[in-house]
Amino acid sequence: MTKFIFVTGGVVSSLGKGITAASLAAVLEARGINVTMTKMDPYINVDPGTMSPFQHGEVFVTEDGAETDLDLGYYERFLRRSKMSKSNNFTSGRIYQNVLNKERRGEYLGGTVQVIPHITDEIKSKILASGAGYDIAIIEIGGTVGDIESLPFMEAVRQMQVELGRKQAMLMHLTLVPYIASAGETKTKPTQHSVKELRSIGLQPDVLICRSDHHISLDNRRKIALFTNVEERAVIMCEDAKSIYQIPRTLYEQDLDDLVCERFGIDAPEADLSDWDEVVNAQLNPESTITVAMVGKYVELPDAYKSINESLLHAGITHKVAVEIDYIDAERLESDEALFAQLQDADAILVPGGFGERGTLGKIRAITYARENNVPYLGICLGMQLAVIEYARNVMRIDANSSEFDRKSAEPIIGLITEWLDERGELQIRSDDSDLGGTMRLGAQQAELVSGSKLAQIYGANNITERHRHRYEMNNRYIEPLEQAGMTISGYSAKQHLVESVEISEHPWFIAVQFHPEFTSSPRGGHPLFNSFVNAAKSYRTSQ
Ligand code: GLN
Repeated sequence: MTKFIFVTGGVVSSLGKGITAASLAAVLEARGINVTMTKMDPYINVDPGTMSPFQHGEVFVTEDGAETDLDLGYYERFLRRSKMSKSNNFTSGRIYQNVLNKERRGEYLGGTVQVIPHITDEIKSKILASGAGYDIAIIEIGGTVGDIESLPFMEAVRQMQVELGRKQAMLMHLTLVPYIASAGETKTKPTQHSVKELRSIGLQPDVLICRSDHHISLDNRRKIALFTNVEERAVIMCEDAKSIYQIPRTLYEQDLDDLVCERFGIDAPEADLSDWDEVVNAQLNPESTITVAMVGKYVELPDAYKSINESLLHAGITHKVAVEIDYIDAERLESDEALFAQLQDADAILVPGGFGERGTLGKIRAITYARENNVPYLGICLGMQLAVIEYARNVMRIDANSSEFDRKSAEPIIGLITEWLDERGELQIRSDDSDLGGTMRLGAQQAELVSGSKLAQIYGANNITERHRHRYEMNNRYIEPLEQAGMTISGYSAKQHLVESVEISEHPWFIAVQFHPEFTSSPRGGHPLFNSFVNAAKSYRTSQ
């Protein structure tokens, strides 16, 4: 039977609940235990798909095409065996939608539909379903204890603890132990209050993870245990680390995994964390540094590109280089010459995915610069579409565009499939502007790489699977003229023969892909495309 570890947070948000929960999962997995993870988000949006990256960071896409919270990215990066799916992320909105649909279908037989038991029952059934088939399921509850919104989730956790019992459920609470510089002391009071808050809704934590930017003394640990009714050995210290990949070892060294196994009666071999040690060692001891200019729209909030940042870091770990990311505001790049000059300091340029026209001219400007100056270029999704547009405009000399930005473009080299694939093979522009036409190509899909292409060499394979999240595609009518002009199509989707990737063979490293390689990069080995890109940047730097 699946055992559940519930994870809540207190005092403030952004304590790294996802990273800590995933780190515990990594240690348990290293003991041979089958672990999965689920994130419950208290907001009303039905899923994060439509949420602005400015507010909530990137939208992480799972293999089965769910648009999820970025914490699921951490879960996959820390775990090797378990892949996240639609059932691993739920919002309050989704829960309410399910309950309301049942109510409309008359499934409650005329009864009054209430938060308790109907909403809480729906939450419990989702939690149970997400853990099915695993030894342990770690369930992270978003938000901070005391929020009105997370109460139904907390109540569901309370009920599950009673129903499952101590051998099958436990509660881990993350809290902040702040350091007050003027007094020169770390303070335990916020933690005491946070636990008090939990207890007032019937929850007693079994484990406390104390986050701090300072050392927490044994005295303070004892004090926290005493005031919170938590065993002293279950008060785990988690000071700010240089690398998030150190956290599995931090938890292991305080025997948190033993505590979990004892509690659940699981007999498992000792964890071997040597692969994590290697990751940390490589990250903290780079032999050189490179700079990647990332030209995007959401540069003020690096979380908007979380998986790309991590993928670059992983590639750096693979090649023992520190990768510095210079976030460049695409819109400003359109006219700011000083900012444009900054591109000269970059050893590689990356244009990530994005939606909408704002900033696209700045991105195109950066692509022209990379193409003309032999600077390694990686385009991802919109970054591929713009690479194609740039090539069409500046090399083929046609006034090309994406119909996402100009619905009436005379040369729609990027468009919705519904626009350019009708029965007669002719272009059709939809008249209904409110309908974005077709649905997104979402989730993992197979691509066939062209033999002899750089991309096929990089992957060392002709068939690959990568995740997608986009509506627009390269228009097949332009394949021939584009190739004649010197841009190579290096991959096609297996199903519909859509363009998956382009490259310029004359250029040392100019590769752009319609898919999102960043969602499958792992700290333990990186991702072939990012590894190759960072290696190219390294060579570019030494050649300068
Ligand atoms: N806006 C583009 C599309 O929908 C690119 C999307 C993306 O970069 N994820 O096709």
